[in-house]
Amino acid sequence: MSDHVILDRIEELRRQFDAELAQAASLDTCAAVRDRWVGRERGIITGEMKRLRELPREDRPAFGQAANELRNYVERELNAALERFGARARELEIARGRVDVTRPGFPYALGVEHPIKRLQAEIEQVFISLGFRVFDLPEIEKEYYNFDALNMPRSHPARDSQDTFYFDETTLLRTHCSTVQIHAMKVMKPPVRAVSTGKVYRRDPADATHSPMFYQVDVLALDEGITMGDLKGTLEVFLKRIFHPDVRMRFRPGFFPFVEPGAEVDISCIFCFGKGCRICKQSGWIEILGAGMVHPKVLRMSGVDDERYTGFAWGMGIDRVALLKYEVDDIRLFFENDLRFLTQF
Ligand SMILES: [Zn+2]
Repeated sequence: MSDHVILDRIEELRRQFDAELAQAASLDTCAAVRDRWVGRERGIITGEMKRLRELPREDRPAFGQAANELRNYVERELNAALERFGARARELEIARGRVDVTRPGFPYALGVEHPIKRLQAEIEQVFISLGFRVFDLPEIEKEYYNFDALNMPRSHPARDSQDTFYFDETTLLRTHCSTVQIHAMKVMKPPVRAVSTGKVYRRDPADATHSPMFYQVDVLALDEGITMGDLKGTLEVFLKRIFHPDVRMRFRPGFFPFVEPGAEVDISCIFCFGKGCRICKQSGWIEILGAGMVHPKVLRMSGVDDERYTGFAWGMGIDRVALLKYEVDDIRLFFENDLRFLTQF
């Protein structure tokens, strides 16, 4: 082989390498070119060096020199290119970390307190100011606290599994917060002033006015000489604070197993102030809660002397108050967690 042929071949490889390197546009592609040309195992230059042994002895020095020069050239060019791309990558990295103090801030959404939760806290606050103790009670409850001790024996229709979520024979999801009466009498000696708010559960299909989960507030006051007058006075303070200072109320006879006598309590319509409108069905009154004097049987079952002590109790749906207070016409809106609804409060 003549020197001329050898040098042509080396020159061709150099042109090939230059073309490939010119195409490399990043640190990664540049590194790939390096592996292809000067890789230790399969690099093109390495391959050429191996060919040296196959050449006639007299051709070896010229070929070896040319190949060495090519390798030096390739390595030099590659190092320069890698250095260039590396520097650019570092600059980009620094630029990315730089803080642009002129850039406008990122807007972020602020949460709002859920309207039911806010009303729940507001209700508790009224009772705290009246000297009541707040009870935080279990939602998973024993049948005894939810029914038996509240004068609702096993045959009582409310205990039907159609209405109540049962876990087993004796454990259920509480159907009301009236359990506060039993829990309070268990841990407090009269005078008792107890209030509890929270979620209750009933097997009601959801519609505009029903939900299988809703919120209640229940109250118990127990002492010597407590009368219906105390019940009325407390309710009046509470309803005026929650609805409107001018709100009026009226009692109608009502039946609840754990009170005697029992009453349904109405407030004067907060929309038409008693004149009659669509909300109050032209009656001027809105039914708002159930109340009464604690049944002597309930007192006796909790070991309270029903000759010496009397008490009043009442319970109310918090969601129902929220519907009226915030003029919402579908209870499901409170539990669907649609931000378009919730951010209005
Ligand atoms: Zn009205």
